[in-house]
Amino acid sequence: MPVEKLFWQDPYATRTDAVVTSVDGDIVTLDRTVAFAFSGGQASDEGTIAGLPILEARHSNLEIEYVLPKCHGLEPGMEVEVVIDWPTRQRLMRLHFAAELVLELITQSHPEADKIGANITRDKARVDFRWEANIAQTFPFLEREIERWVQADRPITSTFSDTATQTRYWEIEGFARVACGGTHPRSTGEVGRIRLKRMNPGRGKERIEIFLADD
Ligand SMILES: [Zn+2]
Repeated sequence: MPVEKLFWQDPYATRTDAVVTSVDGDIVTLDRTVAFAFSGGQASDEGTIAGLPILEARHSNLEIEYVLPKCHGLEPGMEVEVVIDWPTRQRLMRLHFAAELVLELITQSHPEADKIGANITRDKARVDFRWEANIAQTFPFLEREIERWVQADRPITSTFSDTATQTRYWEIEGFARVACGGTHPRSTGEVGRIRLKRMNPGRGKERIEIFLADD
């Protein structure tokens, strides 16, 4: 059985008891976890296993491999506590969903826009497009629409489209349904106030950077 990913069932859970299922040098797997591993542009959580810092978390098929400090002393069958840093996760979820809204609003209003990348860290999110104009021209529209979604505080559904492959999507009824395996807030109000900034990486690429306005 691959690891049970509690961060999908409950993205607000910050700790769980777990059992070590395998150890290979500094790599440990668990029977269940709250610690997200980098996926779909969303950074891994900051956290600990048995009090040891998670140095890296990565997917291996449906499993998650956690890299711990060498000499961690863990063995298969041991019971451990998994804890994540909630302020970091909360920032990741807010920035992640702000990026989802930007992507969806651009896609719906500019069907010709070509999304070429996205990345979400605790400090900022960025979304890249192949785009021939100055993408800051879309900011009044984006800021108005995102503010509207935040004020409306509409529910966000996050669930499986295919449980066997663990493929997931988020949906806001009447707005969008988008494939994504990240962690999403329960409602649009949680995104809160954000700031947009344009970057021009060159060669026909435009980047939208997203910051939390309360920083
Ligand atoms: Zn997502």
